[in-house]
Amino acid sequence: MSNTSGGILRPLARIRGGVEAMHQKAGSDIVTVDMPIPDTVVIPMSQSIGAPCDPLVKPGDHVDVGQKIGDSQRPVSAPVHASVSGTVKSVSEVHLANGMISKAVTIESDGLMTTSEEVRVPVVKSFDDLIHAVRECGLVGLGGAGFPTHAKLSSAFSGTTKVDTLIINAAECEPYICVDNRECIEHPQDILNGIEALQKWCGFEQVIIGVEDNKPKAFDTLKRIAESDDEADDRIKLMALRSHYPQGAEKMMILVTTGRKVPPGKLPSDVGCVVMNVQTVAVLGRYLETGMPLVTRSVTVDGTAVGKTMNVRVPVGTNIQQLIDFCGGFTKTPKKILFGGPMMGIALSYTDAPVCKQNNAILAFADGPEIDTEEKDCIRCGRCAAACPMNLVPAEIERYTKIRNLEGLQAAGVTVCMECGSCAYHCPAKRALVQYMRLGKQLLREGAQKK
Ligand code: SF4
Ligand code: SF4
Repeated sequence: MSNTSGGILRPLARIRGGVEAMHQKAGSDIVTVDMPIPDTVVIPMSQSIGAPCDPLVKPGDHVDVGQKIGDSQRPVSAPVHASVSGTVKSVSEVHLANGMISKAVTIESDGLMTTSEEVRVPVVKSFDDLIHAVRECGLVGLGGAGFPTHAKLSSAFSGTTKVDTLIINAAECEPYICVDNRECIEHPQDILNGIEALQKWCGFEQVIIGVEDNKPKAFDTLKRIAESDDEADDRIKLMALRSHYPQGAEKMMILVTTGRKVPPGKLPSDVGCVVMNVQTVAVLGRYLETGMPLVTRSVTVDGTAVGKTMNVRVPVGTNIQQLIDFCGGFTKTPKKILFGGPMMGIALSYTDAPVCKQNNAILAFADGPEIDTEEKDCIRCGRCAAACPMNLVPAEIERYTKIRNLEGLQAAGVTVCMECGSCAYHCPAKRALVQYMRLGKQLLREGAQKK
């Protein structure tokens, strides 16, 4: 049976469990605005899952926008670039919002935003050229994962399995966050350009853009742009997905868009797929047209403690507190500040940290369900197991974590947990289940190192 209706694909599967999330997409119709150029940016050398970069500049150096200021010889790493023009004030260690410490280059802006001479439109005539360009762009997964995109593409095409499908992830299933939605509405041509390059040089046989049905404007805009391009209409298919968290997780996207299941411990390429966040593809499209690497990023700022819900494009390295101030500051004392969404975001204890490439939201709450986290005893209701899209039994994993039972953790499958938070969301006892999952994985890693 065909899964196409009027040129629009229908999902091929549904995910198990998850959350019929409170969407809270107050920012979905709010146009992205540019933040005024900050006086200073702090650009971390560690902005991806991968090796940190080594600084290429020293205090006193002049830098321009788009100039490479950090790089690494390690294969899984992405270079970093100056996001403002000005003078390097220091190269020192700073605290990042995720609690890590990273070397960072602090640049005092001259207010001119002079473009670097290094910024040149890349020449792409082969797959290798594309991978080189993606690397030079400093591109990482902008949906929050932060994996270097060149490494993802290289590894996908280095195996023996034929990779035939590119899935563009525009699900943005996490509540509050609206930046992917705005990218689709505001920059559909960049998305199309990025897709065309990926398809041409990677040889994907099909491209599926998955958009959840709570983003009708994004869907319509992408549909129009695909239809306006006769070739694109044939090659690029849109799929309307029922809004359901955590459908935007990589393995879930593959399941619903293709019906293929990624086995535990395997990668999307093992089932012939590459999944890319829609903003990542748009940045690639812009880079191939302009040569300007990844030096800005869009961030949704929202929550009951924030003055104004906004989508803001900021130079990478902008101070989080300055971003919050630009959005009206805190109008109530925040009891919880999150870097990312309420399901997978990281709680912040300080806001004097820089925005990094992979950061898509800053949320601050003074009240509401997001801050109700007082743990009570487990009542063995089983709701966490029913909610888990990966078929795990989170309460059991919590027990194994507490007693440090590594065999039990392995057998219970903690390593396949994607930390989506669906179990914790449904837990009436407010157990900090995701933290137990993370700790359980950490125990297994430590156990493996001791062997
Ligand atoms: S949902 Fe919470 S209370 Fe219920 S079994 Fe799971 S951990 Fe226990
Ligand atoms: S156990 Fe992991 S994958 Fe399952 S619901 Fe909880 S966080 Fe998500």
